[in-house]
Amino acid sequence: MTTTPRIAIIGGGPAGLMCARVLQGHGIAPTVYDADAAVDSRDTGGTLDLHADSGQIALEDAGLMDAFLASARVEGQAKSRRDHQGTVLAEFTPATGDRAAPEIDRGQLRTMLHEHLWPGTVRWGHELVKAAPLGKGVHRLEFANGASVEADLVIGADGTWSKVRPLLTDAVPEYLGVCFLDVRFDAVDTRHPEIAAIVGAGHMFANDCDGRAVIVQRNSNGVVRGYVSFRAELDWHVKAGVNLADRESVRSCLLREFSGWSSSMRPLLTDNDGDYVPRSFWALPAPLTWDRVPGVTLIGDSAHAMAPFGGHGANLALLDGAELAHAVSEEASLGKAVSRYEAAMFARSGELAMSSNTALERFFATTSPDAPHLPPDHAREHQDYEARAAEYRRRRAEDNAGSTRA
Ligand SMILES: Cc1cc2nc3c(=O)[nH]c(=O)nc-3n(C[C@H](O)[C@H](O)[C@H](O)COP(=O)(O)OP(=O)(O)OC[C@H]3O[C@@H](n4cnc5c(N)ncnc54)[C@H](O)[C@@H]3O)c2cc1C
Repeated sequence: MTTTPRIAIIGGGPAGLMCARVLQGHGIAPTVYDADAAVDSRDTGGTLDLHADSGQIALEDAGLMDAFLASARVEGQAKSRRDHQGTVLAEFTPATGDRAAPEIDRGQLRTMLHEHLWPGTVRWGHELVKAAPLGKGVHRLEFANGASVEADLVIGADGTWSKVRPLLTDAVPEYLGVCFLDVRFDAVDTRHPEIAAIVGAGHMFANDCDGRAVIVQRNSNGVVRGYVSFRAELDWHVKAGVNLADRESVRSCLLREFSGWSSSMRPLLTDNDGDYVPRSFWALPAPLTWDRVPGVTLIGDSAHAMAPFGGHGANLALLDGAELAHAVSEEASLGKAVSRYEAAMFARSGELAMSSNTALERFFATTSPDAPHLPPDHAREHQDYEARAAEYRRRRAEDNAGSTRA
């Protein structure tokens, strides 16, 4: 790229911050606009596993692998599956040296990405309310705080409810029919030893045969976070007369809903330290593509929000951000850069979104107790991440050699 384009990234989540970091590595200065008041003004949720074939490739491109590994938990890759009586059905312990998918707290990842940007890159407190095309690929962006700017390239990294997406497609997220209540257990090894024993070093997934599940995950600093989940309509709590802000009201409802679960599993439903935070899952239709529109594109969840069963969302968000940044730096025009990025992103995300949405359906399916839905072979999954990472690097080296020759 020979001229200096005005690049506006809407959203300072994993996708937007990664894109900004890699652009800056190429000497290009974008501005990131985020609705949040500050990098740490909101609890961004639990832990994320960053895969060798996607999230870690982006971190390497950003020169942030060492910073990631300084906070990452390799032991957190451990996983177990139980039934609703607490019986262990399957267990996975990562082999020594397995770094295929280490865990990091979302808050740590966001802070780490933000700390490695040039000062002043992110304009906090800037909620985009309108993006209007002005012609020739230029857009005018208007923010809730009254500010407005023009940009030659608008990168929508503003998540599931993107305000940028309508410039490209009419697609809207659909509710996946599963309610998640976010729960948190502090100082778990001393305050909740029974929960520490159930979750182990990593994750514990438990489900029954009627679409109910509990997933708990060890985070850093002795915190365990998890999701109590069940099939429900969006307004289930209104219909059930449950006040979500009243812990006791939610607890009584959960004890009724999960009445078939054993006493050893019930502390997961009732002994949480904070409030229950409701999260509902939404996904965009998949595969989702659009015709290219000059001056605008999407990365991360704004392009392909999917069920979190497969753990691809944040990983794809990071890789999208890095790949778009490389394309902007290497191609002769913004139009060529966006075409190159979108072709690769569409090819990658559609299939993963479909398989993730199917995995959620299967996990919450009604099944026979004799044929429980068992987890994937995690050892094999980790080998696959490493193999695909090697293949990705091999293809990229070939492409780079080809473009140097040309
Ligand atoms: C309960 C749950 C568990 C999950 N578990 C995993 C997992 O284990 N592994 C995994 O890989 N993924 C997981 N995901 C998915 C993952 O969280 C997302 O895929 C990832 O956060 C997407 O990153 P993003 O940057 O595209 O969007 P987001 O993280 O949603 O970031 C969007 C940013 O845009 C900002 N924003 C939004 N609207 C505006 C606006 N109008 N103007 C300005 N700024 C705006 C927001 O403040 C935010 O900072 C999970 C999701 C959920 C809900």
